[in-house]
Amino acid sequence: MSFFVANWKLNKTRLEARAFAERLGARLPGGVPSGVELAVAPPLTALDAARDPRGRWSLAAQNVAAESSGAFTGEVSARMLADAGCRYVIVGHSERRHIFGEGGAVLAHKLARAREADLIPIYCVGETEQERAEGMTVSVLEAQAGTLAADPPEAPLVVAYEPVWAIGSGRAATPEDAGEARREIARLLSARTSLRFLYGGSVNPANAEDLLRRSGMDGFLIGGASLSADDFAAIAGLP
Ligand code: PEP
Repeated sequence: MSFFVANWKLNKTRLEARAFAERLGARLPGGVPSGVELAVAPPLTALDAARDPRGRWSLAAQNVAAESSGAFTGEVSARMLADAGCRYVIVGHSERRHIFGEGGAVLAHKLARAREADLIPIYCVGETEQERAEGMTVSVLEAQAGTLAADPPEAPLVVAYEPVWAIGSGRAATPEDAGEARREIARLLSARTSLRFLYGGSVNPANAEDLLRRSGMDGFLIGGASLSADDFAAIAGLP
């Protein structure tokens, strides 16, 4: 089963989200081809607009509060996300780690909140360019995988390998590099019984097929290219 997740980040009004949903729906007249799963992670304000009444794709949140409820102005809880129809939640995206300073401790809380609400985490890991240059890729992945220590090993988990230098840069990892990271993460998380692997970082319709086939990944987490329903559909290999 291949899995493709559109991460819209800070993009799209409700009107734009609806236009995307209509276009993607038009690409799926007979439903989603067997062996393919799709999810869309819109901004929270566009969750309803991005929803497919026919359920051909699921909804993901881009972030979740580390706390369950209370005096945390501006936060949205896992329970609220589930109530709004989310099935998945992205945790630890590099923009959350690097722009908003989220580290292992807070991400472990977010994972726990996601589990309490039965949301499936899409947990992002990946090294910076400098860490790669210094030969630290494996130790970075090890530390980031360590955040999952308290996460139940039998619970379904999606791990997205997103090297920071590849995100939004137009410079995707090679299938070999992505495959190597996949093997390393699989080794680190060998106790898990339900694990899927995504690659993310400058995936587009031109590089997707080769990357998917040669990296051994189960699919992609897609940023920029996922803003176009046709590009998202092309990346997912839809007819
Ligand atoms: C992302 O932000 O998860 C991502 C992979 O972005 P892009 O596809 O734009 O590199």
